[in-house]
This record gives sequence, structure tokens and C-alpha cells, in this order.
Amino acid sequence: MQPIQAIYTELQSPKKIIITMHQKPDGDAMGSSLGLYHFLIQFGHEVQVISPTNWPKFLSWMPGIETVIDYEKNNAAADEKVMAADWLFCLDFNVLSRTKNMEQVLAAALGNRILIDHHELPQLESFAYGISIPEKSSTAEMIFDFIKDSSYVNLVNEAIAECLYTGLVTDTGSFRFPATTASVHAMVVTLKEKGLQHTKVHEAVSDNGSENRLRFIGNALLNRLEVFYEYNTALIAIPASDIQKFNITTGDTEGLVNYPLSIEGIKFAVIVIDRGELRKFSFRSKGDFDVNEFARENFNGGGHKNAAGGQSVETFEKSVLDFKQAMFSKKSQLSTYNF
Ligand code: 5GP
Ligand code: MN
Repeated sequence: MQPIQAIYTELQSPKKIIITMHQKPDGDAMGSSLGLYHFLIQFGHEVQVISPTNWPKFLSWMPGIETVIDYEKNNAAADEKVMAADWLFCLDFNVLSRTKNMEQVLAAALGNRILIDHHELPQLESFAYGISIPEKSSTAEMIFDFIKDSSYVNLVNEAIAECLYTGLVTDTGSFRFPATTASVHAMVVTLKEKGLQHTKVHEAVSDNGSENRLRFIGNALLNRLEVFYEYNTALIAIPASDIQKFNITTGDTEGLVNYPLSIEGIKFAVIVIDRGELRKFSFRSKGDFDVNEFARENFNGGGHKNAAGGQSVETFEKSVLDFKQAMFSKKSQLSTYNF
């Protein structure tokens, strides 16, 4: 993988460009992709954003979202565009398998794959150009850096500001996680100067849920939460029947994993959701406990030190047991609480 700076000189010459992201995109994946989209179209490039799967309703307000192809709904049109592309930006993931059914066509693409991402252990051989900085708060911050470093910060408009701010807010837990550096706040200064209405973004992202979703959260906290005080760990295990009963869709479970961290002493929070075809895990931690490592070792996953995910093809009950076994084996790391 060559440094991304190598493509700056090419920005001016019109190209066919694909921007894609990890499956089930979150605010950062979609925000950074659409932010980059609104930047690149200003050069006259032909730009298409493709999401490997559907996305949460709480992102449906984003400027440009109506142009995004859902690969699972329209793979023929998407495949054609991928094969014709000169550049394929890969945002907020660093191994091609994170794009689920798009993996094959992405791997077969003739154009240059360009990585912009902040996860650990990138599959460097998959990308012609790119930048990977795990310390960065969000891919949205990295898109902002890309725009700034390419000397076109003057092209940042309100649409770009809204999209990138969405990524920033969602990936930093509203500016509270340790990766929220002075540069992150400096970025917000620029976005505000470009017309960002931050309250609008917060309300669009956070205050658009259904009554069902709120009751689902209530039920999860009341009936599905198990606390292991001797491990400073809390688990929320959601059976498929809850997903059906409360009519839960993509994105509705976002953020639920963070609630147990509000319990005094809890430094490791886990949610496992029975998604039918597989059991999906989310892991969050405070301080030194490395959930990226935990997810890689036990649940074929990955992510960041304090936020990661994984999955299991075992039954729901077996997946819960497997998690407990894995937790037991980390007793020495989990039973101490100091930060
Ligand atoms: P979430 O728990 O919000 O789905 O994901 C937390 C972080 O872990 C995100 O950065 C996400 O990209 C990453 N992540 C989630 N699931 C997986 C997975 O199955 N594999 C890998 N490699 N990363 C994941
Ligand atoms: Mn991210």
C-alpha cells in the first residue's frame, strides 16, 4: 500500500469512483462515505457510493443518501460500476471480508482500491494506496484530514460538514472517548465555520427512534442483562424472539451495549444478539481491557481496543456459554479495576 498522498495530483482529472464501507454501516461508515462523495463530485468525477447492506433508519436524513446503492438490493448494477471504476475508496474497514457479499467483486476490481481507515491490523496487500491510523477518532476525521492535506479545505460545504460531523459524533460517543483529541475539536471549529448546524445532526441521529425501540431497550435492561461483579463485566443477551416482538430493524440496537458501562465498576460490556443466520457480538470496555483482542481471539471479529465486534455461528445458548467461558479465562485481567 502506497501513501495516500500519491493520489492528490490525480484529484483534478475526472474519474469513475466507487466509495464503499463495511456492512451494516454505522454513522462513521456512512458519514465518511457521503462526506467524501460531496467532496469528490465537486471535481466532476462520476461518484457512486455503495453500501454492502442496508443501513439504520437514523441515517436516512443524510444529504446524498438517496443516491447510495444497497448492494443486497441491486448487486448487478453495483457490480458493473465496481468493475468500471478507476478508484475504489474503502472507508471504515480494512479487510475485504467486512463488506460481506461485496468481497468478491471488490477483490476482482480492476481499479485501485484506496484505504482510509482507523482499525487495527489492515490487510495492506489489498490496497494500492491508503492511510491507516488506529489512533484516529473516526474515519470521518481522516476524510477531513484528507481534504485538508490535499489543499482543498475551501471545498468543505454544509453537506460535507453534516456528514463528517455525524461520523465524528457517533464514533467518539459525542466527544467523550479517549481518541477525541484537540484536532477533533479543531475540526469541529472548521465545520461550524462552514455552516454546520450541530443540533440538527444530534437530533436527526438520536431523536428519531420508534416507541417500540425504546420499549425494547427497557425490556433488554430489565430482563436480558446479567452482571458478573467479580469480573466487572455485564452481558446483555437478546434472543431472536425479542427482535421480532419489538419489530427491531437495522440500527435499533446501536448504542445499547454502552448502557451497562454506566454501572459503577463495570469495565467490560457485551451484547449478543440472535440475528437468525448468526449471533452478533458487540464489545465495549473502559481502560486497559482490550476488546479488539478479545473479539479476534474468541469471536472471529475485531475493531478497536475499547470497541469491537464479532460473531458466532453456534446456537444462541452456546454462544452465550462460549462468551462466559472466554470471560472466565480473562479473570486476571477483568477482576482488577483501576484507571
Ligand atoms: P459495533 O459493536 O458497533 O458493531 O462495532 C464496534 C467496532 O468493531 C467497529 O469499529 C466495527 O467496525 C468493529 N466490528 C464490529 N463487528 C466486527 C466484526 O465482525 N469483525 C471486525 N473485524 N470488526 C468488527
Ligand atoms: Mn469508524
